[in-house]
Amino acid sequence: MNILAVFAHPDDETVLAGGLLALLAKLGNEVNYLICTRGEGGEVGDPPVSAQQELGLFRELELKNAVEHLGGKNLTILDFVDPVVGENNQLFSFTEDQPLLRKLILKEIDEKKIDILISHGSNGEYGHPGHLTVFETVKEAVNLRDGKVTWYTCQAAYEGHPKPHLTNRDDPADWVVDVSSVAAEKLAAMAAHQSQHSLFKRRKSRELGRMISLEEILQLEESYSLQTKNNNDILRSILEPNGFLK
Ligand SMILES: [Zn+2]
Repeated sequence: MNILAVFAHPDDETVLAGGLLALLAKLGNEVNYLICTRGEGGEVGDPPVSAQQELGLFRELELKNAVEHLGGKNLTILDFVDPVVGENNQLFSFTEDQPLLRKLILKEIDEKKIDILISHGSNGEYGHPGHLTVFETVKEAVNLRDGKVTWYTCQAAYEGHPKPHLTNRDDPADWVVDVSSVAAEKLAAMAAHQSQHSLFKRRKSRELGRMISLEEILQLEESYSLQTKNNNDILRSILEPNGFLK
């Protein structure tokens, strides 16, 4: 199967869907990545890995490294610029030009003969406007290739989701996949996103009152929602016979 993972920023692919993407690569599928920005508006790390003006370059290298660990076949990074986080942590989308983004997604779908697309969910996980732009635009692109592309979204809702703050509450999970067999690959991809480590660890470190390790936030259970309800659930038919579904 030819798979396309479409995400807004470097690290979204790993944090939100890295386990499934690594697993699908391991099972012999061609996994392609389309990342819309270089995450240049994000955090520079603590201690900083680079100046804010050079963060995009740095994160591009981190992303390439992460995709390699996940067994990705191709990585395309689009030239949209991730806006710097505003006052009071206000987040912005990377574009208002959805027709351009749609065109670029369709080009990737057609060139790589994509069967399955995986992206952000309908709530943008925690409501990030850039994630929502990707969701809305992927929806338009998939509709234009009616029936040809089977589309799933990540971090779908179910009772007992391990990361409630990342859950798309309006996307019911069709299945939950155990990604513990690719824990090492997912962890290596998280480690590759060095500039974001302090961000990754902040919430749980505060909760526990101590600095935690990456292993402690590694999510080994991922949930997905089949958005194109008229398509067969191809991923279920790949994962279930191999015993990967919970
Ligand atoms: Zn993101």
